[in-house]
Amino acid sequence: MSKTKEKQFKKLKNAHTISSIVIFIIQFILLVGILNVVLTFFTLFLIDIKVDNESKLIRQMAQNYENGNKSGINYDFFVLDKNGKKIEESGVNTCSDKGGVPGTLFGKKDYTVFEDKDNKTLFFDDGGIVTFNLFAPDFSNDDISVYVSSAGELDDINVEGNADIDVPLWIGIKLSNGNTFVAKAHITARLVELIVFIIMFAAVNVFLFVFLIIRLVRIIRGVIRRKKLSELFLIDEVTKGNNWMGFLLGADAILKKRNNAEKRYAIMHIVIVKYRNYCMCHSLEEGKKILHRISDTIDQNIDKKTEISGHVSSSSFALLIEAPTDESVRERFDKLLSQLSDVDSRGNTQQMAGHPDVFKSFSFQAGVHIIEPNVVDGHKTKRKNVDLEKHYNNAVTAKATIESSADSGIAFFDEKLMKNEKWTEAVEEHQQKALDNEEFVVYYQPKYSPEKCELVGAEALIRWQSPEFGFVPPGRFIPIFENNGFITAIDHYMICHVAKQQKKWLDEGVKCVPVSVNVSRAHFAESDLAEQILNMVDAEGLPHNYIEIELTESAFFDDKDMIIETINKLKEYGFSVSMDDFGSGYSSLNSLKDMDLDVLKLDAEFFRGDADSNRKEAVVSEAIKLAKRLKMRTVAEGVEDKDEVEFLEKQGCDMIQGYYFAKPMPAEEYEERMNEVYHVLHE
Ligand code: C2E
Ligand code: MG
Ligand code: MG
Repeated sequence: MSKTKEKQFKKLKNAHTISSIVIFIIQFILLVGILNVVLTFFTLFLIDIKVDNESKLIRQMAQNYENGNKSGINYDFFVLDKNGKKIEESGVNTCSDKGGVPGTLFGKKDYTVFEDKDNKTLFFDDGGIVTFNLFAPDFSNDDISVYVSSAGELDDINVEGNADIDVPLWIGIKLSNGNTFVAKAHITARLVELIVFIIMFAAVNVFLFVFLIIRLVRIIRGVIRRKKLSELFLIDEVTKGNNWMGFLLGADAILKKRNNAEKRYAIMHIVIVKYRNYCMCHSLEEGKKILHRISDTIDQNIDKKTEISGHVSSSSFALLIEAPTDESVRERFDKLLSQLSDVDSRGNTQQMAGHPDVFKSFSFQAGVHIIEPNVVDGHKTKRKNVDLEKHYNNAVTAKATIESSADSGIAFFDEKLMKNEKWTEAVEEHQQKALDNEEFVVYYQPKYSPEKCELVGAEALIRWQSPEFGFVPPGRFIPIFENNGFITAIDHYMICHVAKQQKKWLDEGVKCVPVSVNVSRAHFAESDLAEQILNMVDAEGLPHNYIEIELTESAFFDDKDMIIETINKLKEYGFSVSMDDFGSGYSSLNSLKDMDLDVLKLDAEFFRGDADSNRKEAVVSEAIKLAKRLKMRTVAEGVEDKDEVEFLEKQGCDMIQGYYFAKPMPAEEYEERMNEVYHVLHE
């Protein structure tokens, strides 16, 4: 898997868990913080009011004291002079020297408060649940502080039968002569207030607790759901083992382990040959059972700690196994083969009773790509970048080399394939630049009429004049472009260049003939292909009859309706359409029935090989007859001999395109050919 894909997957896998935990923590901290601030302010507010009210009473007493009305003083009190010296005292003095001007919610007060020596707490001291301590830890900064010590349950509250609880506080009022009147305040916390406060506090705690539990349950549920989802994503539903994704992630982890750095590994692509036939003969369900058994057998043959397997597509499996030598890989494959053949006959006797031979006909083919140990300067070094998809593709490429046989076999991705791979990469790297710099050159291969040897047409064939690679024939890059989709850009390029060149020749008075341009099969998937071609040719101002479109035979197996529609449109616009390489692949006779084509190009293969020449001639002559009956002109491709030309002439073949008359040539040379009235080559 590519690094980005892998990262994306891991991100997806972890993202929700991490983010929900982070969100949960933030929410929790915020909530606790906000509730605490609210509670603190609420409590301070209540205390503030009570102390304020009491200070008013004591202020009245201080007034009475100044007025000499001592009977108007019903609290314990003492009076300090300007120097702090006690000058009068009444009742029990338990005032401590700890205190000052309280700075509370609503600014500084015009009285002072002092802590009581006997009882320093406002509500509960020990064993209580909530402690409001007005003076701790340091009252010298003139603040009234509120501390919440711990949270608990209502049962723990011990009020000891008192409905009201005294608040131990002394309040000092400045007298007009500078002395201070200090009296013991009678502030009481009423039980109902206390209970309301405790209920509030408990409710807040219960709320927080419930919130915490709900969130936690959600997070746990999310984690479980994600685990299931990632299983769905990584587990193959048929084999219950790894799927392709599971294989990629697992193999990547194995290869990147430090301990595995010096191990040589093999990536294998194993294909069950004729699996489809099996499914067709029996059923998809039977096929799935077979896959399950094969997967189990493969798993039994690997060491799960350092190796892994996965089901890639219906008939193929991927394996990552340790490979000390190539020979060891072959041995393990052979061992697997013998066990797999056991599976065939053992596992399905009931269903297969009527078809015993089907199992025998099963074979397995494997392609192998070797991943060498990652040892740098004699030290094992953790593999960092492992392009598993590329390695697997190499194994697929290796397997393709044995595809022609139906027998079991194994092939390694070797030097030659590596070269091809490198070449593909190089081509792909240069393709766009080559197109932009017009490195692709149009060659023309003339088509001659056999009887008069007259130039009647030509085929435009691409060549690559590369500054890096030199002169490159199309066989070396067209298949690559067909694979990677760049072929459509090439087809456009060719049509534009041919149309431009033809128009130029026409304007110069050259006796032009129609030139055929190859249009790739991939291009026919585009529904507006006919319009695209029309626009390109019209852009150059070339009459449409000077362009012919060649379609390779294999294209006729794609979307038939779309192809018919495109062919009809092209013909409507005035372009000729030909079927290229007729007879090279699967029979396209059926296509001829449905498609109104102008030209049939007989493939060069008709004229090659060791087949009996009578038989060859019979096939060619019948193909020409068929074309004539369908009112199609014929072009024989790849004609190299005089005998062949004479034979084709007799059969009424309309055109010959082959080395006998001319090889593909650059535009200048072709221009000279056009200017010759008759180009008679055979005397
Ligand atoms: P094709 O379209 O069937 O082109 C005919 C091929 O047969 C050409 O090969 C031509 O040089 C070769 N040929 C013609 N007469 C003889 C002969 O007497 N003897 C032998 N041995 N060969 C002969 P070329 O130019 O190498 O092109 C190969 C294929 O590459 C083409 O087959 C076509 O499928 C593809 N191709 C070439 N140019 C283009 C292009 O511009 N666009 C697309 N899509 N494909 C192209
Ligand atoms: Mg062609
Ligand atoms: Mg051809």
